[in-house]
This record gives sequence, structure tokens and C-alpha cells, in this order.
Amino acid sequence: MARRESRAVRRERLATILDRLAAAYPDARVGLDFTTPFELLIATILSAQCTDERVNVVTKSLFAKYHSPEDYLLVPLEELEQDIHSTGFYRNKAKNIRACCERLIAEYHSQVPMTLDELVTLAGVGRKTANCVLSNCFDIPGITVDTHVTRIMNLLGMVTTTDAVAIEFELMKLVDSERWNAMNHLIISHGRRTCIARRPQCPMCPVADLCPSAL
Ligand code: SF4
Repeated sequence: MARRESRAVRRERLATILDRLAAAYPDARVGLDFTTPFELLIATILSAQCTDERVNVVTKSLFAKYHSPEDYLLVPLEELEQDIHSTGFYRNKAKNIRACCERLIAEYHSQVPMTLDELVTLAGVGRKTANCVLSNCFDIPGITVDTHVTRIMNLLGMVTTTDAVAIEFELMKLVDSERWNAMNHLIISHGRRTCIARRPQCPMCPVADLCPSAL
């Protein structure tokens, strides 16, 4: 179905899907806890291969201890590793956080930059993290392609690839930019509550009649 559909038809179908998901999940929001752009940047780096719930447990004490990029450089690397240990891949994440903070201090006056091009120059920050920060902290439109978006956009026949950048660029053509930020939260909510990996709840799905993969 998807491959035969024109982009114009997919655009229209996706607009209706997003309307329905907005009605179904009116409380959809970012799952990570944060109070500043810097905190979300750190939380997003920690969220790689980890659940938001686990990251929130760790950042609760982490953000009470570390307030600025400088703070992350004041402790020995091993101490930071210990503080983020339970998010997994802690050695790599600690290294990235330190390198990220060093660059924030050296290049951006310890502030989180507000463009994608600048954000992706920071260690541990790819397009997904950058778009997450831009959309949630600065209200700048950005599409966050995570595992839910990848899975669900393929199931819906909007894309036929698992390449995150290709998905992001196709969705940019399929959805008006003023809906991008809301779409991130709606698709993630749908993936957590209804279109669950390996056990999608198709009979209860509000977009089943618009989904070529409905069971
Ligand atoms: S119909 Fe099923 S596969 Fe399609 S979006 Fe809904 S839950 Fe997912």
C-alpha cells in the first residue's frame, strides 16, 4: 500500500492519523525530566540504550549534584561514571558528557547552542538528541527519530527504511513544521501505549483503519 501511495496521499493520511493520536493522547509530552536545556542535553545523552524511567531516576540525584558544564569537569572521571552507572554504557557516556561540557565551555560560554549544526558538534549528540533539545527547550521545529518513530512510521507505510536520517527528511516533507514537535510526543506515546513493539494492540488502535499493518 505504502509504496503505491503518492506523497500527497500519505501526507493527507498522516495528518488524519496525527489528529486522531492528538485526541487519544492529549497528555503526550517528553518523557525525560529536566528544568533547563543543559539538563535535557545531559538526560538525552544518558537515554541512549536506556529507558526514560531509568534516566529520570539517575538524573534526579545527578542534577542535584551537577549544575553546570564546569561541575562535570570538577570530579574524577570515575566518580561521574559511578553516578551514571545504571544507565548502561556508562564509560562511553561519561566520556561524551565530559567532552560535551568542555566544548560548551570553550565554544559556547557554557550555554547550550540553539542550532542543529552547532549541537551536533558536541560529543554524544546526534540529530536525534539535537532535535530533542531544539524542540523541547527552544520550541524550534525538529523531528526526533527514535525506535518508536522508526517502527511506527514503517508500520503505517509512511516510510520503508530504518535509516533515521532518511526517515527524518521524509517526515519533513510529509508533515507541516508546526506539527513536528507534537508529532514526536504523539508517536512515542502511541508506541508505548498501543502500537507496542512485538505486541501492537491493533483492535484498540485509534488509527487501525488508516494503517496497512493493522492485524
Ligand atoms: S493498527 Fe496496529 S500496527 Fe497499525 S499503528 Fe495501530 S497498533 Fe500499530
